[in-house]
Amino acid sequence: MTDAMVTRFAPSPTGLLHLGHAHSALFAHRTAQESGGRFILRIEDIDQGRCRPEFEQAILEDLAWLGLDWEEPVRRQSEHMSDYVAGLALLSHMGLVYPCFCTRAEIAAEIARSPAAPHGPEGPVYPGTCRALSDDERAARLEEGEAHALRLDVAAAIANTGALRWRDRARGEIAADPAAHGDVVLARKDTPTSYHLAVTVDDHLQGVTLVARGEDLVPATDIHVLLQTLLGFATPDYHHHGLLTDAEGRRYAKRDAAVTLRALREAGRGPEDVRRMAGFED
Ligand code: GLU
Repeated sequence: MTDAMVTRFAPSPTGLLHLGHAHSALFAHRTAQESGGRFILRIEDIDQGRCRPEFEQAILEDLAWLGLDWEEPVRRQSEHMSDYVAGLALLSHMGLVYPCFCTRAEIAAEIARSPAAPHGPEGPVYPGTCRALSDDERAARLEEGEAHALRLDVAAAIANTGALRWRDRARGEIAADPAAHGDVVLARKDTPTSYHLAVTVDDHLQGVTLVARGEDLVPATDIHVLLQTLLGFATPDYHHHGLLTDAEGRRYAKRDAAVTLRALREAGRGPEDVRRMAGFED
């Protein structure tokens, strides 16, 4: 007997859902159902510059058309900024957060100056420029109201938690390597949170026990497990699935209009066809 699982599908409304999303959503929904648990839909819309209400509407319509149902009300991250700010305050209180005044151009220039700059899972790692500021300079720049992001001092965070492991149902035990990401952003200059912080807080607040998503997010999990541990949250189980590819072996992406659920539906495919194309025969 498996325990009742709480799973979620957490799309960002920055485009139309494609077959890869359908696979994630169908997997999470089926796993929750088979275990007698719950399936949650969460809208990850903190990036207000890129999110559009019409894409959110399309997500709801496409998932319902596919035959999925979910708990109401749907949580929209943009409506819960205070929860992320509270998490950030805890981390700040632990002395693990510092303001970063760098612009993108300054970071790129700094990386270009040091050819041995480490590369992380998402590109070159932040060189830690603002971590090295003196307390006086930091205070003066904050006083002046200079725009800043907030970053996690990842080395200090790891010193606090020690080595971490997490479990992937498809891959087994994984030794986390959050240091590979460098000092990740926890709050952006224009938004009081970041993807890493919001996803960690929400999975906890919503009681998610199994995070199912594409394998492109395997590296990000190392950061999520670090944040969970610092914040005293339980680490859920994970299931990262392979990314679906087209006939040429290319990964589906939001830019591939032909494999959006919307385009498939308009081309006359039914929900059963799309479930099958997404890897679900039943
Ligand atoms: N919102 C993220 C995306 O659409 C997925 C986050 C997650 O599943 O953890 O790519």
